[in-house]
Amino acid sequence: MRDDNCIFCKIANGEIPSATLYEDEEFRVILDLGPASKGHALILPKNHYRNLYDIDEATASKAICLAKKMITKMTDVLGCDGYNIVQNNEEAAGQTVFHFHMHLIPRYKNDNVGL
Ligand code: 5GP
Ligand code: ZN
Repeated sequence: MRDDNCIFCKIANGEIPSATLYEDEEFRVILDLGPASKGHALILPKNHYRNLYDIDEATASKAICLAKKMITKMTDVLGCDGYNIVQNNEEAAGQTVFHFHMHLIPRYKNDNVGL
């Protein structure tokens, strides 16, 4: 369940170092290189799935539960005022890295982040 040409496979599995906020057997949560706001993170499964069309339901469910845990914890850590969860599927929808990921985007009052 990996694609040798996929950068997120390498990051998720620790072959390329990343700013990691959380890791378990199935997932790694990293800071986005081009953050939309302070603390913008990405949930990456360690197995390769192209996007939500491709991922199995059990892994998708775990990713959502992990998103809930992460935003709860990071709201305290960052002192943010809310969160957007963004998840792009296919080029037409803005997907640029074709390994399933969920964006966790902290929001701050009057931050003017355009999504
Ligand atoms: P997408 O547009 O596919 O939903 O999101 C891809 C995201 O991955 C973008 O927000 C981009 O900044 C981020 N990104 C792309 N390459 C890297 C990388 O090598 N490391 C990290 N940490 N983020 C990346
Ligand atoms: Zn991959």
